[in-house]
Amino acid sequence: MILRKCRRCGCAMDPGEGVNGMCEDCVRQSKALKTRAGQLEALVKCTDYKQMSFKDLEAS
Ligand SMILES: [Zn+2]
Repeated sequence: MILRKCRRCGCAMDPGEGVNGMCEDCVRQSKALKTRAGQLEALVKCTDYKQMSFKDLEAS
C-alpha cells in the first residue's frame, strides 16, 4: 500500500521520508538546481537538452 507519493517524480515514499512531499532524490536534485554547476550538470545528463549549445546556456 502506497501511503505517500513524491509530488515530483511520483515514486512511492515511506512515511517520514522526503521533504515537502518530495523524495530524497528530488530534494537533492532541486537543491543542486539552485547552483549554476548543478543546472549545467542536469542539462548535460538530460538527453533532451543535448542539442542545446553551451552558448545558449551562457546567454540565459
Ligand atoms: Zn521524487
